[in-house]
Amino acid sequence: MTTPATDCLFCKIIAGQIPAEITYRDDQVLSFKDIGPKAPLHELVIPLRHIATLADGASEDVELYGQLMVVAAKRARESGLAAGGFRVVMNAGPDAGQSVHHVHLHLLGGRALAWPPG
Ligand code: AMP
Ligand code: ZN
Repeated sequence: MTTPATDCLFCKIIAGQIPAEITYRDDQVLSFKDIGPKAPLHELVIPLRHIATLADGASEDVELYGQLMVVAAKRARESGLAAGGFRVVMNAGPDAGQSVHHVHLHLLGGRALAWPPG
């Protein structure tokens, strides 16, 4: 199922080679606390299978991308954010500031979030 990429930080977290505060795991996705939180709740939801960027998304990944969203919503509910609101964001490529090249959904909440992002 997992196809680790050499020198991928998030593949190493998936493999347990780098520690992370894991909040959810199933056979497709993993969520964990962001190491540099930008909001009171900031978690990342990632596929276990290495995909470098959303720009690589393909039709066979539809279920996987759906599961990323479903898990983000589950974590938002479990964290008490369903009523107050939250945001999910995926940065893709240099103009969006993607710094880790393994697809990840940011789940942010616990404060009012400005719009639009910079
Ligand atoms: P992006 O800039 O969209 O690629 O987001 C990458 C995110 O990964 C940033 O929010 C970082 O704070 C986060 N991050 C980097 N290294 C780690 C780590 N070892 N554990 C948890 N989060 C990390
Ligand atoms: Zn990876």
